[in-house]
Amino acid sequence: MVETIEQETRLTAGFTGRSVLDARVLAAMLSVAREDFVEAGQKANAYVNSPLPIGYGQTISQPFIVALMTDLLEPRANDVILEIGTGSGYQSAVLSCLVRKVYSIELVTDLAERAAQRLASLGYDNVEVKAADGNLGWAEHAPFDGIIVTAAGPSVPPALIQQLAVGRRLVIPVGSRYSQELQRLTKNQQGEVDVENILPVSFVPLRNG
Ligand code: SAH
Repeated sequence: MVETIEQETRLTAGFTGRSVLDARVLAAMLSVAREDFVEAGQKANAYVNSPLPIGYGQTISQPFIVALMTDLLEPRANDVILEIGTGSGYQSAVLSCLVRKVYSIELVTDLAERAAQRLASLGYDNVEVKAADGNLGWAEHAPFDGIIVTAAGPSVPPALIQQLAVGRRLVIPVGSRYSQELQRLTKNQQGEVDVENILPVSFVPLRNG
């Protein structure tokens, strides 16, 4: 799977501007068993570079996209990261290997509960999951050293920009229902964001709670 990620990184370098991903990110991808995060009937496909169904019409993202979004966040060991769209918990697990603490919000209560249980039973003990509307962020733990949104909306929720630390990154797919652009926003000293368009992508919708 990691070889495929490396290959796809090279193939998309014209868009993303990166022909290699951070070695720490690739090591985290290697250390998390994706099969633990997919449904029983999907185990055989766990290491294929494609999204897979996780119930409720939602998907676990494609491994390459998980790796790319993690790399774009530029995570550091002491960081506190916010994720919107816990889903299976796979992206949270990858981040949990790289940073101090991951807060993750999932709108579907059953998915949130299952992901929290799965992460705890696999020993990812620096991840906290709550069932809520991620559009509002998680003010209690802000500011965050990075925010990653794994569902797509027409625009960036303002609360997330507010809750981002200065100098740090928010990675989010922005666009219409079936076609979006993966964007990276960096908050500057004035509290405004600089926007980079990284890659055309297709995510499930970021819904309103
Ligand atoms: N990161 C996940 C991918 C999940 S797909 C993984 O690694 O498996 C996107 C998820 O976002 C879905 O589970 C969906 O229910 C959730 N979602 C959609 N709108 C949301 C919102 N407003 N707040 C929180 N989660 C939301």
